[in-house]
Amino acid sequence: MIHYKTKEEIELMRESALVVSRTLGILAKEIKPGVSPLELDKIAETYIRDQGGIPAFLGLYDFPNTLCTSVNEHVVHGIPTKKPLQEGDIISIDCGVLLNGWYGDHAFTFAVGDIDPDMRMLLDVTLESLYKGIDQCVAGNRLGDVGAAIQQHAEKHGYGVVQELVGHGIGKSMHEDPQVPNYGRPGKGKKLQEGLVIAIEPMINMGTRRVVQLKDGWSIVTKDGLPSAHFEHDVAIVNGKPEILSTFDYVYEALGETPPDFIANR
Ligand code: MG
Ligand code: MG
Repeated sequence: MIHYKTKEEIELMRESALVVSRTLGILAKEIKPGVSPLELDKIAETYIRDQGGIPAFLGLYDFPNTLCTSVNEHVVHGIPTKKPLQEGDIISIDCGVLLNGWYGDHAFTFAVGDIDPDMRMLLDVTLESLYKGIDQCVAGNRLGDVGAAIQQHAEKHGYGVVQELVGHGIGKSMHEDPQVPNYGRPGKGKKLQEGLVIAIEPMINMGTRRVVQLKDGWSIVTKDGLPSAHFEHDVAIVNGKPEILSTFDYVYEALGETPPDFIANR
């Protein structure tokens, strides 16, 4: 069952999402060769608690940490380790917060130092595919329109779209109905309507779309060992149009980078 949100509830959800956004901004300054994902995890947990929030992943389905940190061929659900990041790595940082009874959940994939142009292209296309999906979040459209927009953009570049994991509704629970696949057929699936709030999170692989789970019971990695990228926003349908509750502004500010035009000009 889908829980549609009122405008007041969506404003509360924006507060939760923005705690995650600011957390990602703080981490953006720390991500460099030599830093370990576990160190990033501690920084995030401290910041979230200082804001009066609760790290939402910690203990969720018994996950052991605040962040999911997924490096290179790791797609999602990576457990933060002590292994230092290296120049040329990419790391997806996925973070959830519970604040005032409402969840926020979003993710950004960061470059560690200078990265290979192929990796840069993967990050750019995955980010673009997220926003192409968001653009379809218009009342009257269907979930298949969202998935198809993401899939078409990624596959146009020869990338694999992960199908085993999907985005989701979000609200008073971290994972609510509906499921939000990153693939689909235009005009198919649930109709989108006012008050829907979903986390859209394309997971795009440089090579095959196939993934496997590691023995730790969490980490999802690409079957061919090629890198994977992941970006996630919380998106509400307000006045019939998509409204992004989370923001990458803090990340770009911390990195000293200008966001791409399709983000800056929204
Ligand atoms: Mg997430
Ligand atoms: Mg999510």
